[in-house]
Formats: sequence, structure tokens, C-alpha cells
Amino acid sequence: MLDSFGRNITYLRLSVTELCNLRCRYCMPEDGVPKRSHEEMLTEEEMVMAVSAAASLGIEKLRITGGEPLVKKNILSICEKTASVPGIRETCVTTNGVLLPKLALPLKNAGIRRVNISLDTLDRRKYAQMARRDEFDAAVAGLEAALAAGFERVKVNAVLIGGFNDDEIPALAELTRRYPLDVRFIELMPMCAGDFKREAFISGDTVVRKLPELVAEEPDGTVARLYRLPGALGSVGIISPLSCNFCDRCDRIRLTADGRLKPCLHSPAEFPIKGLDEAGMRRQFEAAILAKPEWHGALSDSEPSRAMRAMNRIGG
Ligand code: SAM
Ligand code: SF4
Repeated sequence: MLDSFGRNITYLRLSVTELCNLRCRYCMPEDGVPKRSHEEMLTEEEMVMAVSAAASLGIEKLRITGGEPLVKKNILSICEKTASVPGIRETCVTTNGVLLPKLALPLKNAGIRRVNISLDTLDRRKYAQMARRDEFDAAVAGLEAALAAGFERVKVNAVLIGGFNDDEIPALAELTRRYPLDVRFIELMPMCAGDFKREAFISGDTVVRKLPELVAEEPDGTVARLYRLPGALGSVGIISPLSCNFCDRCDRIRLTADGRLKPCLHSPAEFPIKGLDEAGMRRQFEAAILAKPEWHGALSDSEPSRAMRAMNRIGG
């Protein structure tokens, strides 16, 4: 379906839980989130119905996210049922990877085509400092399990944080020469979690400066600027929500685990669908798509997101 600015909305990010087994400083408060009652959250049946309503409006691509989607007990059933909704051509998962050693193959068998794994550093000590949990080995084992499971594509997402991992840009990019995977560097977004200083917000261009070998590639229809290291098996991408706004190419809508449609990641506007039947959900999807703003508004270290939610309660 086209939004009010002529953009074709074909991509749904479905958050299946607010809970997580990590506590990344840029995403989640140290104490986690208060556990909410089951009645407040979407049921599996409602998630499948919502995906079906979305598909009837032209949504073709689905990303399952969270919180950490793999901590959800019925995650395999959610993946299997949503991936087989008519009209959904591709279902992917974004995960911190910690539970992938056990779940990579079952996810593949449930119809997941691609996985994105968040890994901001290759240093165990720094990982524990940023994620507030000592799970580096599990995350790396999860990445290896994903590569072995035979997904169509595996991506590593690294949030760029000045003074934390800017010195690791070459090592993270080097993963694309050693393994058949893509790496995406994402600018840190000023959400309500975390108390990062101005120096932490570094531009995506830092990646290009640190990697003079990079060769530009044709865009692949996503919001990333793409490059490749000579001889690499995968691409290096830069996602710059702050320094290089890509709202004119936005094709997505988000559904939170508590059943709110978010027309824009950084806007407080939400459209509830919890408790509705499929026709009611479809009407809310239409309203939310038509309410998508032209752009997310100014976003910088001094102008934080107006999302009114931490990232774990949206889905990234
Ligand atoms: N738990 C899963 C994971 O970490 O991949 C899925 C949910 S997480 C909210 C989705 C993505 O959002 C992750 O790649 C994470 O790094 C990113 N993210 C979270 N907070 C962010 C922030 N403040 N700025 C930029 N990216 C952020
Ligand atoms: Fe959890 Fe993902 Fe947020 Fe980290 S970024 S706290 S892994 S939801």
C-alpha cells in the first residue's frame, strides 16, 4: 500500500517480546523491563492475524524482532505460522545470537530465510561491558551456528559507538573476508536508554575513512549504503539514520509486542490492534500507513528520539 508520500510500504517489523537476555546500554535499562501481564501482550494468534492483515495490504517482507525474539517460548511456532502467511515472501529474524547455538537449525526449518545477528565488538570484555552480560562466547557460537545452518544470508549488525568500537571497524569489516556474511554498521540513535556523551555519536562516514580499501556497490533496495572489501565474501553496509536521513526510501511499519502499530520509529504516534479481529487490524494498518510522516524529524545527540519507548519495546 502507498503512504501519503507515495512510498510503497512492503516491510513489517514484528516485535514478539519486550524481554531480553542482555541489557545493551543503548537499548535497555539496567534493571530490564517490568514484566507485563499476558493480557496486555499480543497472543500468537493475534500476531499471525496481524501479519495476514498486513499481507492483504501488500506487506511482503517480515522481520521478527524484540526484545530478544529467541527468548520467547513459542518462537518457532510464531516463525512457522507467520512465514507461511500467503503473500509473505521472506521472513527474517534479528537476534543477539546468544540462543542460536540451539535454535539456528530449527529456525531455518521453520521457514526463516535470513538472520541478522547483533555483535558490536569482538572483545569479550567490551561485550560484557556494553551488553551488561558475559555472553560473548554464546553470541559467537550463535554466529557460527547460523553460518552452519545454511540460511540464505547472515548479517552482523554493529552499532557504531565512538570511544567504544570505532577502533574495531577494520576487524569487524574483516569478518566479510573470512566468512560468507555481510556486516552493517549502524549509527547510534539517541533513544531514551543510555547516557552516551556527544563523542559516542559518530557518523557512518567514519567507516569509509577507516577503510580506504572499500569499493562502493550498487544499492540493494535497503536503507544501507553498500561497499565491499576486495576479495570479500560479503558486503559492508552503513546505515545512517542521523547523518544521512533515508526517510524518502522508508518502506516499513512496526508492530510492538503489546500490539501498537508505529508509523515511524521516532514518533510517539501509535495505533492499537490488540483485541481486534482481522478486518479491524487491517483498518488500523491502513490508518497507520497513511499516518507515516515524511521524515522522522531532527535526530542528534541533543535532539533525542520522540519514540517514548526504549528500543527493546519497539524492535529496532
Ligand atoms: N535483541 C535483538 C538484537 O539485539 O538483535 C533484536 C532487537 S534489537 C532492539 C534490534 C536492533 O536494534 C539491534 O541490532 C540493536 O543493535 C539495534 N539498536 C538498539 N538500540 C539502538 C540504538 N539506540 N541505536 C542504534 N541501534 C540500536
Ligand atoms: Fe536486548 Fe537486542 Fe536490546 Fe541488546 S539490542 S538489549 S540484545 S533487545
